[in-house]
Amino acid sequence: MASPSPAGMLFENVFIGLGSNLGGREHHLRLAREKLRSHPEIELRQQSSLYRTAPVGVLDQPEFLNQVIEIATRLTPQALLHTLLQIERELGRVRDKKWGPRTIDLDILAFDQRRINTTELVVPHPEIRRRRFVLAPWAEIAPDFRPPESGQTVAELFASCNDKSAVHV
Ligand code: ADP
Ligand code: MG
Repeated sequence: MASPSPAGMLFENVFIGLGSNLGGREHHLRLAREKLRSHPEIELRQQSSLYRTAPVGVLDQPEFLNQVIEIATRLTPQALLHTLLQIERELGRVRDKKWGPRTIDLDILAFDQRRINTTELVVPHPEIRRRRFVLAPWAEIAPDFRPPESGQTVAELFASCNDKSAVHV
């Protein structure tokens, strides 16, 4: 089970990317948000609109709905990851092919200014600057946040993103 950080410290500026392209996509995003909100160690601070985006990688699959939320939490990054993976399982995600269809995908985009590089967790998420479907919703709720190592704000990363795949609100 996920455990609180030893000092019970509150971490802020924690951002999670949500995505779904299978079944009731809005429903999956809502259920995931509700599970996060009802977690005793997680406080939901902000949520972006839902964005409709074309799939990346494996192109022959349904359109995605994407969203970015901001939370504050007393969980460590590793405990937060385990909570996210647990929610993915509860929503019936089956890990099939990489980048294939999924009921729900929950990624830690940034954990304040922390840098993490373990076999199970890389934060900030390495694909951020290449992904318009992450940067568009993220720039909506936190344009001035600076992900560590990027040297740029989310709004600047979004403006200079080369990913031209369509993103519609
Ligand atoms: P992807 O999101 O790239 O499509 P998956 O959702 O299938 O891939 O995740 C596979 C693994 O990625 C997870 O089991 C987790 O251990 C790892 N992972 C590494 N960094 C992160 C991160 N920042 N957020 C979420 N998962 C991550
Ligand atoms: Mg993922």
